[in-house]
Amino acid sequence: MKIGFLGLGNMGGPMALNLVKAGHQLTVFDLSKPAVDQLVEAGATAADTIAALAKSDVELIITMLPAAQHVKSVYLGDEGLLAHVSPKVRLIDSSTIDPMSAREVEAAASKHGNLMLDAPVSGGTGGAAAGTLTFMVGGEQADFDAALPVLQAMGKNIVHCGPAGNGQVAKVANNMLLAISMIGTAEAMNLGVSLGMDPKVLAGIINTSSGRCWSSDTYNPYPGVMDSAPASRGYSGGFGTDLMLKDLGLATDAAKQARQPVILGALAQQLYQTFSGQGNGALDFSAIIKLYAGGKDE
Ligand code: NAD
Repeated sequence: MKIGFLGLGNMGGPMALNLVKAGHQLTVFDLSKPAVDQLVEAGATAADTIAALAKSDVELIITMLPAAQHVKSVYLGDEGLLAHVSPKVRLIDSSTIDPMSAREVEAAASKHGNLMLDAPVSGGTGGAAAGTLTFMVGGEQADFDAALPVLQAMGKNIVHCGPAGNGQVAKVANNMLLAISMIGTAEAMNLGVSLGMDPKVLAGIINTSSGRCWSSDTYNPYPGVMDSAPASRGYSGGFGTDLMLKDLGLATDAAKQARQPVILGALAQQLYQTFSGQGNGALDFSAIIKLYAGGKDE
């Protein structure tokens, strides 16, 4: 299939590479020349502008951009996609943005005659490279069915979550729970260790007891408990604190609009805000455990 791909960063770059590997013909655009060059080396064609990409003979355009303001300007701007794309081209936005912005862009696309899906992902840069992402997809069932083979070249679990915006709803709800469970795990681990428990023994107990969760059994924040976790490599790599903070902002904003209390989500946002403000925004989000160490290194 002829596919346009816009936004070739940490996630979009490897996702686009997987589409090339699966035999699709890609036309790509990014503000970063090195990001474009990497795809061109792999066999993709570069477009000079968003308008040029929109006007090329692609059947589907996928975007993977940092935040809602980028998505709105790329789709709705005077020189954006909708100003130039043919109505028969299908659109998929995989960026993580708030559900209301996703619905606003989808409504504009629909008015223009384009079918559009929101399809945010989970699985991080490792999942993007390995082609094992989870896609949470909002939009019409028939459009989802048509997009499935393309999404399967980049992911393993592809779930239709309901109408437009529902992919983003699933994503913000999951990531808010992840933030809360990580803070809970950090608090419990630090309490146990400060009262004399060996961290590995404590993690083993939690992971075979009712406190078990992904933050404790796959991504434990206590250093040395799990060799594969960012906690055991100085909290480098993984999912950055500032990205988690962004997702908590999306959750609390969406909650405000839905008039739905998110008490622990708001508290988690404040804790991550504090931690980021202390200069830790680039560390993996499990480093939030450092807040409990009174500043001393874990
Ligand atoms: P990134 O910053 O690495 O990449 C974004 C890319 O978009 C950059 O290459 C940038 O040059 C490009 N870009 C920005 N504005 C543009 C424009 N107007 N036109 C063309 N290109 C433009 O970000 P990322 O880590 O790839 O994340 C992308 C999205 O995926 C975000 O919404 C993020 O929240 C989400 N996400 C990230 C991860 C992760 O682990 N990194 C995991 C899941 C979801």
